[in-house]
Amino acid sequence: MNLLPFGKLPAHRARTFVPSTADLGDWPQTAPLFDQLEARAARCQTAAELERWLFDWSELSAALDEEASRRYIAMTCHTDSAEAEKAYLHFVENIDPQLKPRQFALEKIYVAHPFREQLPPARFQVFDRDVKNHVELFRPENVALETEEAKLCQQYQKVTGSLTVNFRGEEKTLVQMGRYLEEPDRALRQETWELVTRRRLQEKDKLEDIFDQLIELRQRVARHAGFKNYRDYAFRRLGRFDYTPEDCTRFHDAVAREVMPAVREIQAARRHQLGLDKLHPGHLRPWDLAVDPQSRPPLKPFGAVDEMVSRTQKIFDRLDPGLAGGFRQMQDLRLLDLDNRKGKAPGGYQQTLSESRVPFIFMNAIGQQRDVETILHEAGHAFHALAANDEDLYAYRSAPIEFCEVASMSMELLGNEFLEEFYSAPQANRARRTHLEGIIGFFPWMATVDAFQHWIYTHPGHGRAERAAAWLELMDRFGGDVDWSGYETARGHLWHRQLHIFLHPFYYVEYGIAQLGALQVWANSKRDKAKALADYKQSLALGGSRPLPELFAAAGCPLRFDAATIKPLIQLAHDELKKL
Ligand SMILES: [Zn+2]
Repeated sequence: MNLLPFGKLPAHRARTFVPSTADLGDWPQTAPLFDQLEARAARCQTAAELERWLFDWSELSAALDEEASRRYIAMTCHTDSAEAEKAYLHFVENIDPQLKPRQFALEKIYVAHPFREQLPPARFQVFDRDVKNHVELFRPENVALETEEAKLCQQYQKVTGSLTVNFRGEEKTLVQMGRYLEEPDRALRQETWELVTRRRLQEKDKLEDIFDQLIELRQRVARHAGFKNYRDYAFRRLGRFDYTPEDCTRFHDAVAREVMPAVREIQAARRHQLGLDKLHPGHLRPWDLAVDPQSRPPLKPFGAVDEMVSRTQKIFDRLDPGLAGGFRQMQDLRLLDLDNRKGKAPGGYQQTLSESRVPFIFMNAIGQQRDVETILHEAGHAFHALAANDEDLYAYRSAPIEFCEVASMSMELLGNEFLEEFYSAPQANRARRTHLEGIIGFFPWMATVDAFQHWIYTHPGHGRAERAAAWLELMDRFGGDVDWSGYETARGHLWHRQLHIFLHPFYYVEYGIAQLGALQVWANSKRDKAKALADYKQSLALGGSRPLPELFAAAGCPLRFDAATIKPLIQLAHDELKKL
């Protein structure tokens, strides 16, 4: 049974090392390929031979990656299929754990190889730096600690994922409760917000316990690797060679100075539109932030998913013939599974099939504006994969996350120019307004989450009360004009909801950095659309072959996050909002 939405995909390159009949879901057939690579490395007599070896290793990595992706895609498209689940779990449980040490062994062989230094430096500089970094940070004594960390992370997910409340006689998940915060009835919003908040606070001590243990583990991991604190370790581990903790602090300062006035202005307008300024005291409350300020019904951009695809195609047709061709190719190859149906995993993602070198997009579209944002976003990632698919070094066919999100977030902004394909002019403007306000509002939350983690990991031995105080200080700085009186405990523990703080430490500022890049691409397109698009496409084609500042520069958006960079971008977003 074929559980994949797509059929046989054309090979981008014929295999030259991995046998075409090899079953890479079977470890006994896969292990000998690693044996061969290990043995061959020792026999490489020239830099050219080592280069050949790197490309064979690339071919194997891509083929294995695609094997894993296919099983993941089949599983998420058919969560009710026992066969799909078994195939996916087989890879996760039996192949992956064998694979990781074998890949790491090859990395070590590469780093120690006598001909490594003779490889063409411009070509291999980024690859070399990343592999060397990975090998250098490895400590055998950290393996057990990381397993323990993963278990604690899983506990966090278990505690937060299973929460329900009893709402008017019915048990509801917190996700289901979210939609009541969009209800025009203010008393209903307050009731549901309080219910959810109380439920979360019942888990407060459990989550603080988990987090204290996580901090302790992470500090030990960092010390083993020779770092004085976990922040500095995390920066290296995340491959942040091109910006520092001090740059991030400057970013937070710039958000406070340049973005907060715009946030307060948006909040004041919301307060006015909701009619709160006629009340006393008349402040915005935490339950007033998600509702449409004019109490309009939600936008309905399309009915059936086919309609979403054909209208999105029209947007790309108007934007750029090259990108439009890429999206059409994805339809022809059935690389889209977008409708919400029973037996599909939740959410949306873009996954590259690394050997076929084509992207696949998964979504659960139900006919709301969010779906239009998501398809444009994921299409941006897909264009990135297509643009870089002539690169033969597997590691270079994908870019660092900071730049991947420039590809996708730019596409939201560029695609939004043609939203009339989905809406009347006033409706299109409403969607644009929500999008731009969302972008502006994201920066302060990003700064809060990031600055909080900088504080946590540079204040070893801090207590829970100090931690809450540090968070509250950031909420004062970045929360704007929202009245939390009566809910001080909830405010001091709001960070419990941000899973990155628990699961993916320090991994959040990337979205802020990328959003600045995307705003610059958008600003460029307002000045010279053809050049902005040409630069965007050219930068995507670089994949991950160049360091981050070069990728950004190629896209026409210097990698800088100071006040001077942010100011004109927020001004532009602000001016656009005025026009809408
Ligand atoms: Zn993304």
